[in-house]
Amino acid sequence: MLKAIQAAVLGPPGPQRARILLTLLTLVLYSLFALLQQAQVMLGFIDPQASLWLTAYYMLGAVGFYLLLRAGWGKPFFRGSSLVVWQMVHGILAVVWSYAITGPARGAVLAILVLILTYGMFALRARQTRRLVQFAVVVLGATMVWKCQTDPLRYPLWVEAVHLIFSVIVLLGVSALSIRMGALRANLRQQKRELEVSLERIRLLATQDELTGLVNRRHMTVLLQAEQARQQRTGQAMSLVLLDLDHFKRVNDNFGHRAGDIVLKDFSAAASRSLRASDVLARWGGEEFLLVLPGTTAEEALRCVERMRASLAHTSFDAIAPDLHITFSAGLSSCGAGDSLDAAIERADQAMYRAKAQGRNCTVTA
Ligand code: GH3
Ligand code: MG
Ligand code: MG
Repeated sequence: MLKAIQAAVLGPPGPQRARILLTLLTLVLYSLFALLQQAQVMLGFIDPQASLWLTAYYMLGAVGFYLLLRAGWGKPFFRGSSLVVWQMVHGILAVVWSYAITGPARGAVLAILVLILTYGMFALRARQTRRLVQFAVVVLGATMVWKCQTDPLRYPLWVEAVHLIFSVIVLLGVSALSIRMGALRANLRQQKRELEVSLERIRLLATQDELTGLVNRRHMTVLLQAEQARQQRTGQAMSLVLLDLDHFKRVNDNFGHRAGDIVLKDFSAAASRSLRASDVLARWGGEEFLLVLPGTTAEEALRCVERMRASLAHTSFDAIAPDLHITFSAGLSSCGAGDSLDAAIERADQAMYRAKAQGRNCTVTA
């Protein structure tokens, strides 16, 4: 029940909710302000007619802003923080208007002006806050001059001058603080960006093999478990293939370790090109790779592995040696829903060793 009321008043959860809540809070503050204003009307400080117009202006405005936000009507017109700017312009005008009609207690109204602009310091960019401060000073100054001339008995020149000077001093302070706040926020944004880059790097380091860019063994174990959970829902079989490069030690011995690294990278790139988006190839050990083909039968997996073999046969290693050809031996096993993953990998491993024993450059199905 409470949740339903909350949803009706504040809308669906999300970043917009905080803004709607704040707009509602402003509405409450305006209502309190209206009560105080009414008390001053009763004390004879404010003209009832003038008070009514002012109350209508800020209450209708506040309700209007709430509806704009809640119903999303303002979206096409107000981008980013521009609705907040207009809410603040509305508030500044209400305060200055109130200053013009309040009479003896008008000095207290200026505190609300400071409250509004301090809020801007947190919600807006420094430049926007400074503009609003300038706007407030101009509107307030002009109103004071106007009141001095039209109502000098209630708005004597020296009182207005003191009010204006104090307002300018405080608002200059708000302006200066907004610059400081802007710098702090820029700093925070920069730190957040750096943190995001570092996090992405850590994520890659934790999941990717540095040399080949393939999924690493640790991450493959996680992916396999997730795939097995999915398999339990769908009931589909998956195929596992263990691939091992043939006579790879010779590449290292004949052309050096760096050449071996290039072969590992080029093999990974060529193999990845033959795969579907749902297939995952991981570097399982030194020159050993584990291929997972979800929702794939052993026959389909065999066709895929032979495609990889053909692709590798056409891959040139001219940069290392013109007549260098790289081949691999593969062991294939099927893992049904509910089967043990470790056992399926073990079967693929034994099949791979049988492929080695059969003369290499071939695939054996477990
Ligand atoms: P087989 O056909 O029986 O698999 O023979 P092989 O020579 O490929 O197998 P063996 O296990 O004897 O040798 C694998 C070699 O792979 C040994 C190791 O130095 C090399 N190796 C493992 N990781 C890397 C690596 O990251 N870079 C390089 N360049 N070599 C590696
Ligand atoms: Mg090998
Ligand atoms: Mg090996």
